[in-house]
Amino acid sequence: METGISLKSLGIKSDLKLAGRNFNPDGTKIHLGGVKIGGEEKVIIAGPCAVESKEQLLETASAVKKAGAKVLRGGAFKPRSSPYSFQGLGIEGLKILQEVGRETGLLTVTEVIDTRDVELVSSYADILQLGSRNMQNFQLLLEVGKLDKPVLLKRGISSTVEEWLLAAEYIMSMGNYRVILCERGIRTFEPLTRNTLDLAVIPLVKRLSHLPVFVDPSHGTGIRELVPAMGKAALSAGADGLIVEVHGEPSCALSDGHQSLLPEEFAKFMGHLNRVKELFDSTEMLPLLD
Ligand code: PEP
Ligand code: MN
Repeated sequence: METGISLKSLGIKSDLKLAGRNFNPDGTKIHLGGVKIGGEEKVIIAGPCAVESKEQLLETASAVKKAGAKVLRGGAFKPRSSPYSFQGLGIEGLKILQEVGRETGLLTVTEVIDTRDVELVSSYADILQLGSRNMQNFQLLLEVGKLDKPVLLKRGISSTVEEWLLAAEYIMSMGNYRVILCERGIRTFEPLTRNTLDLAVIPLVKRLSHLPVFVDPSHGTGIRELVPAMGKAALSAGADGLIVEVHGEPSCALSDGHQSLLPEEFAKFMGHLNRVKELFDSTEMLPLLD
């Protein structure tokens, strides 16, 4: 008799021998510089969409650290829809991110968009982000699979859960088992939000895979005012952590200002998260796989 959801019962035919829950039924925990990702504690990643200057990043980093974030985000190579939009500071941005990470005691995460830059980016950051637009860039997946660094794997803009888990499988097939999945919204017919944040995948993927699951309510909504509610909803649904965009002066941000929280809004949000901790779902309470 079927007793719960499984890869098979959902009709997933692909071989998920590494990313599937059975590979590590207790759930993968990633230990990194005193932070445990995938454990009891929810881990909050915060920072600006892009690194713009040392002053900008330091101001935001100090604020998010004070509020309880453990990891600093900041793009140096930005995958922009238009070739005329700000593309990021490149190596200069990586250097600033590393400096600010060290000065504030925060771990760092930044995106890599080109196979030729994987080594470079990994020499500056603690976690590499593989963005939505590159989720099925198989060469890039294989390349980050060779690293000894965790990879934050965003769900593709129009990708199914099976494709997303297969992307993780690509990374893991090269020997890197430290993959963090991140739901960041998918493209639907709804134009009022930037993306449709698919929160149902959290309890689903937590049962289909052993990998930690994060949520990005910033790109998931595209609207600053919606970010705290969706962040709380994601943690309540069992997400292991969040990645949130924060900017000291959103109206002047070079990218994604409209979806970035102000530092004081972020601090308020973090205070609220601490007060509602007991609402956050724990997968341990529910059957995982049949
Ligand atoms: C980002 O995190 O800045 C980003 C570009 O994310 P995504 O790949 O989810 O669009
Ligand atoms: Mn962004």
